[in-house]
Amino acid sequence: MKVEFFRHQLGEANLNRLASVMRTIFLTTGKEVDLFEKEFAQYLGQGHAVGLTSATAALHLSLLALGIGPGDEVITTPMTFVATALAIMHTGARPVFADVEPDTGNLDINQVAAAITPRTKAVMPVHLYGQMVDMRRLDQLAKTHGLIIVEDAAHCLEGERDEIRVGDLGQTACFSFYATKSITCGEGGAVTTNDPSLAELLRQYRLHGMSTGAVDRYTNLYRHYDVEVEGWKYNMSNLQAALLIDQIKEIEPRRQERERIAIYYRDSFSGLAGLEMPALLPGVKQGHHLFTIWVHPKHRDKILWDLQKEAIGVAVNYRACHLFTLFRERYGCREGDLPVAEAIGSRTLSLPIYPGLQVAEVEYVVDTVRRVVKNAG
Ligand SMILES: *Cc1c(COP(=O)(O)O)cnc(C)c1O
Repeated sequence: MKVEFFRHQLGEANLNRLASVMRTIFLTTGKEVDLFEKEFAQYLGQGHAVGLTSATAALHLSLLALGIGPGDEVITTPMTFVATALAIMHTGARPVFADVEPDTGNLDINQVAAAITPRTKAVMPVHLYGQMVDMRRLDQLAKTHGLIIVEDAAHCLEGERDEIRVGDLGQTACFSFYATKSITCGEGGAVTTNDPSLAELLRQYRLHGMSTGAVDRYTNLYRHYDVEVEGWKYNMSNLQAALLIDQIKEIEPRRQERERIAIYYRDSFSGLAGLEMPALLPGVKQGHHLFTIWVHPKHRDKILWDLQKEAIGVAVNYRACHLFTLFRERYGCREGDLPVAEAIGSRTLSLPIYPGLQVAEVEYVVDTVRRVVKNAG
């Protein structure tokens, strides 16, 4: 048996809509992107969604549109994909890493508070593995210090905590439609906001800063455009949107399928010596984007190789990202700076979790993990 780490759910409906766009002459940002944005914003209960080429673009443009730049500091987590920190650097601002909670791996709000300086302008929380950060407390802190919140919600379309959904307390929330995310078009992203003028600015930033898009120049009589701000090339295409539109109504059923798998894994692994799991907090609706286990740091890599030898797809989400060479060399980050994130980073590995994973496959993963972890320790 070979158990893939991830398999997408694209099917006939997505193919049909993609084919229908291919039969039109308009492949770039247009009608399908508009429709996707409308339905995506509606799903999230947000006023506006802006379709982009990646979540990295969404994070970058959010900060730009909110006025973050050189000389500013943005506090974020080291327990994330490196894109979070890079997006901050793309604006010329400096990423400042704050340590995480030992039981969830999510940003520790006390550590965020301790990292605030007169240069701090924003906080970029990541809703790790699909479980939301304590947004009510972060919002309190941000209001006290006049900080912007930009949410990296690449793991967490579906999340809810203390009656707060993703995007409710951030100035923007940023989403990824990368190949392994819960809805996907291979590569893609979006940003949501309740602020109409911010949405307008994001639309301008995503397309070179031009005052009108190609669809306007095509649909209406030609008008000269102006370039008012230094923009980027981050606009979502109709082809990407066509793949995404019919997945929106699948978001919740797919989440529930992942939840069933997560519960089965948790029950099967509970009490197993040498294996721990992040806490599932009460009152939280979990996206279950990733299923991670924490093993002994001495054994993590051996367990990782052993599972791959047994044909199980695995990943590491994540090794604490402040220890990458870039951050060591540019900002002098080193071991011991963020002990909780470093400990999680040396212990973590991710198992397959996605709709369509067969019962026999889940059972095979459970049996193999139990055996491999026992043999390692
Ligand atoms: C996937 C991911 C990103 C980057 O998404 P892209 O769409 O590939 O740019 C950023 N942050 C986190 C936490 C992610 O998992």
